[in-house]
Order: sequence, then structure tokens, then C-alpha cells
Amino acid sequence: MIRKFLILSPVLLLLGCGASQTLVSAESQPIAVSIDLVEVQDDRVSVTIDPGVFSENETYFYIPKIVPGTYSEDNYGKYIDGLTAYDYDGSILPVNKVDDNSWLLTNAQKVDKISYFVNDTFDTETEVEEPVFSPAGTNILKDENFLLNLHGFVGYFKGLKETPYTLTIRAPASLEASTSLQRINTGSSNKGENTYVANRYFEVIDNPILYAQPNSVTFQIKDISVTLSVYSPDGSLKAKDLQPKMETMMLAQKNFLGDINGTKQYTILLYLSQLSATDATGFGALEHHSSTVVVFPQQIPRETLEESMVDVVSHEFFHIVTPLSVHSREIQYFDFNEPKMSMHLWMYEGTTEYFSMLFQIQQGLISEAEFYSRIMDKISNSKGYEDTMSFTTMSKNILVEPYKSNYANVYEKGTLINMCLDILLRELSGGEKGVRWLMKELSNKYDVNTPFNDPDLIDEIISMTYPDISDFFAQHVIGNEPIPYDQYLKKVGLEVTFAEQPGTYFYLGQEPYIDANPANLDAIFIRKGMELNSFFKDLGAKGGDIIKNINGTDITLESMRGIVGQSFGWDADKEISMRVDRNGKLLELKGKAGTPTYKERSLDVEETPSAAVLALREAWLKK
Ligand SMILES: [Zn+2]
Repeated sequence: MIRKFLILSPVLLLLGCGASQTLVSAESQPIAVSIDLVEVQDDRVSVTIDPGVFSENETYFYIPKIVPGTYSEDNYGKYIDGLTAYDYDGSILPVNKVDDNSWLLTNAQKVDKISYFVNDTFDTETEVEEPVFSPAGTNILKDENFLLNLHGFVGYFKGLKETPYTLTIRAPASLEASTSLQRINTGSSNKGENTYVANRYFEVIDNPILYAQPNSVTFQIKDISVTLSVYSPDGSLKAKDLQPKMETMMLAQKNFLGDINGTKQYTILLYLSQLSATDATGFGALEHHSSTVVVFPQQIPRETLEESMVDVVSHEFFHIVTPLSVHSREIQYFDFNEPKMSMHLWMYEGTTEYFSMLFQIQQGLISEAEFYSRIMDKISNSKGYEDTMSFTTMSKNILVEPYKSNYANVYEKGTLINMCLDILLRELSGGEKGVRWLMKELSNKYDVNTPFNDPDLIDEIISMTYPDISDFFAQHVIGNEPIPYDQYLKKVGLEVTFAEQPGTYFYLGQEPYIDANPANLDAIFIRKGMELNSFFKDLGAKGGDIIKNINGTDITLESMRGIVGQSFGWDADKEISMRVDRNGKLLELKGKAGTPTYKERSLDVEETPSAAVLALREAWLKK
């Protein structure tokens, strides 16, 4: 996945990532799911599941607590209402709800089917403390739009995760379905009814479906057929409008990947939010083997949307390399309700994000200057997280604090880990081998059906490459030593310099250091993932702190706006007392306002590099 922080206005309007598709064999009895998108009742969709015959007296039904690519516990079972079990005569059987995501069926042998209602997640994003990230969420808008991230609609029975599924979906005739899920022709005369098949539960949830007014375009990128479908509430954005940028980008990605195997079909589902109280607030995307769901606000300017689509879709598309192909057992046999996390987010997210930057320079889509500026941004942003936290420990424990709130560093430091490894491998191989070579080698060994053993991966990479890289992993990936980026960049003739520049108290240029919680706009917090200015640092404030009070004024969105306005007239000697909530503890921070400065970093290109340095840089960026 990737989350994008879009600042829509300089004032505080703050808003908050192929399976083989063979036909189901006739011998195996599939789990039959029916979803009715026509008779929507109270903004809820009715789902019926016929599991076949149980041999045990009791069984459990589960809706996922967590899904691959999200790295957070979202409890999709919370959105299920009125789960009822029926016997073959249509009489109701007892069901015990065990927790948010599990139901016990005590007379399992008698169960014919179960049915329940599904509420959408978009409706409640602004009401709950930790909303489901919108690209993993669901939307139900009668006759208009249905975003079916199927883990929100369809569950699984204990022991039956590997059983094939059929999904019959009845939808308004005016809406068109877009998905990479395999559709079968049932011969049914029912207009608006489609039947899909999946080989196992994972394949169901790996293939979201977007129902919307027809607005899609299909194009060919070498051997991949790409479909882009757009839900544009006001109808202003046509899928065709985005096609040229997406085509150029994906062709460049295909060229970059060379003969690394990928998918033959890819579906991009773009949902545009109206930013209303019941609409999506989390912007970015979630990856799947042969599709991605992208959410952005309808209001962003076309040019920003196109740029954001390039950044986000290229990231998600590179996920076909890892973790969708190269991944550990933890991901192959993903436990949707008692998840065990892998220690390799440095690769799943870090390599993916690094590739999404590197292919652009390697394929000539951006200049060297632009590439260097993006590296500098990553370095600066990474300083907004714990730089002395072991990346493998963080990854393994990403669902709990203090690791959870450092998650987004996988896109910053995770990228830089790969950059340093890339430079190191190029140096050791005389320019021949880099991280892309490594990923190709790994993808020859591991694939969609062949996971690696989580604790063995790093040793394996060392034995495939050079013993000299073992220190790098030991110190900066497994270990907790910050990476001396200048030492790695020096090898390619780049120098990191920084200067203290005068700034303002609450903004870095146009970007605020503070943000409002979309679920509670009066909860103003200091953003993580930004290196703080001298004002916040000297006070002892940290990213993630919730600001409760400044100089006697209780903080709300309104009062914060006032203080930001006044701050432009603050004197360096002004006494500041700031009460913050840090992980539930109230702290009084005191100090002088001072003259705010921020660290401006730049990458300087060595003027007269040696031929060896120049050759290494060329190999790194262009080979
Ligand atoms: Zn991702």
C-alpha cells in the first residue's frame, strides 16, 4: 500500500497497496456466495453464503481482522449486522458471536446457509478513532457506486480457506463491474447478474470489484492487458483522460522490469471521494496481484491527480515483484484473524518504493536533479521517525506500539535502505549487479506459490551476493544504527550538505507541521514523517504529540487557526508553554518561541568525479 498526504490548501484544511486463474474443478464443491446490490436496505448490502455440508458439530465463521498489505488491525467484522444461520427447512439455527470478527455455529451439521448485512466503511471514517484506510475500505451508495473490497463482504469458514468460491452478484443494470476476478458465463438471462469464480478465499479478497457508471478504458502494455476504471461522482474525470500518462508510465515499468515475470492482466480501480462526512478520507492505494484500488479526492487539480496517479500506481504495480511474488510463509499462509507478521518490510514496501523512484530516472521520465531531490526528501522525512529502531524488529511487531506509529518510515528509510544496498552491490560487482538483479534472482527462486523462510532471507541474500554486504544488514537493517547516507552517496560522487534556514513556527514552506485527526477535527497533532523545526525540537515536542493547550488556550481546530495566525507576530523572547498528550501521558513543554529554523538538505554533485565514481553512478542510474 501507499498513503499519500495531500495538502489541499495552505490553511488547516487537513486531511488525512497473478494468481493463477484456472477453472474450478467439477469435483470440488465451491462455497457459493450471493451478494445483492439491488435491494439495498438501510445503506446495507445483503450477503448469503452456502458452504456445503459440514461434518463437525460446530464450526466458526470469520470476517478478516486484517488483510495483506495493510499492516493494521481493522476488524472488518464490525461492519457486519444480523448474521443468521438457516437449516435446510429455512428455520433459524443458533449463532454465538465470539468477537468482532468470529461467529460460532453450534449446529453446524444442520446449516444450509448463513446470511448477513454489510455496512460500508466509508460512511464511518470520520466517526471512528482509527478508520480503515480507504483503499482497503468499502462503499455502498445505492444505484450509484459499490466499492467491493471483498474482505469486507465475504468471510470464510474454519478450515475452508482453501476451498473454491463462486460469487453471484446482482447489480443495477446501469452499473458496470470492473475487476480482475474471473467471470464465468452462467447462461442466466438475469440482466445485471454476474458470476465469478475463485480458487480459494485469498483469491476472492485479492480481486476487488468496482461497480460504477461505465467509465473505463483498456489498453495493452506489451503482454499485459490493463483496464483503468474510474468512479467520478460528478462525471468530470474520464478514464480516457488518464490513459496517456498511465500508458507511458507502465510501459517504462515493464521495460525496467525486463524479464521479471508479472501478470497478464491488471486492473486499476480509481475512486474519487467528494470529501463529504460519509465519504473516503484516506488517500493512496492498496496492492493486489492483478489490480489496485486507488482513492483520491475529486477536488484535486488534474495535474496533481496525474502526478499522484503515476507515483501511487507505479508503486502498487511494482508490488507484483514483492510481496506478491517474492514473499515469506507468513504472507503465503496469511492468517486473516491471528496474523503473524514478516520481518521484511524493508523489502516488501522499501524495495517497491525504491523501484518506483529508480525506474523513472532509469527510463528517462525524470531528470537526475529531480531524482536527487526525491532522495533528499526521503532522507529529511525519515528523520521524522525513530532512526534508531531496528527495521526487522519494527516489521515483525508492526501491529503494536512503538513500532506501529513508525510504519510510514517503510516508505522513507525503507527506500533509502534499498538505495544504499543498490550502490553497494553495484560497487562490489563492478557495476553489473544491483537490487533489481537481486529481485530477479529471488523471483526465479520464489514465486506466487513458493514462499521463502522468513528468518533465512538475509543470509540467503548474502550468500547469493557478497559477504561484504553482511555488515550493512547487521548494522542498519537488523541493527539499530542510523545509516550514514553521505558515505554511500559519496561512492557515486554525491555529497549531502545541509544548512539551517529561517522558517516559520507551524509551517515548512506551504506544508504544516501539524494536522487534524479526520475523525475529530479538534484533535490537532504534530505530524510524524517530517523533520521538525527548531521551535518544536527546542520545546521537546515530538511527531505524534497531540497539542492540548498553548499558553492557556485549549486547542481546537478554530483556536489553533488563531494561534497559527498570531504566530507570525511572535517575538523570539515570547515564553511558550505547550501541553501535549504523548501516548496518553500529558506533558508540559516550556521554552522560548525563538527564531524558527529548519534544516535544508541538498545533494551536491561532485564537480570533477573520478572515472570510477562516474562509471558507478552511471551503472546505478542508467543500467
Ligand atoms: Zn506498498
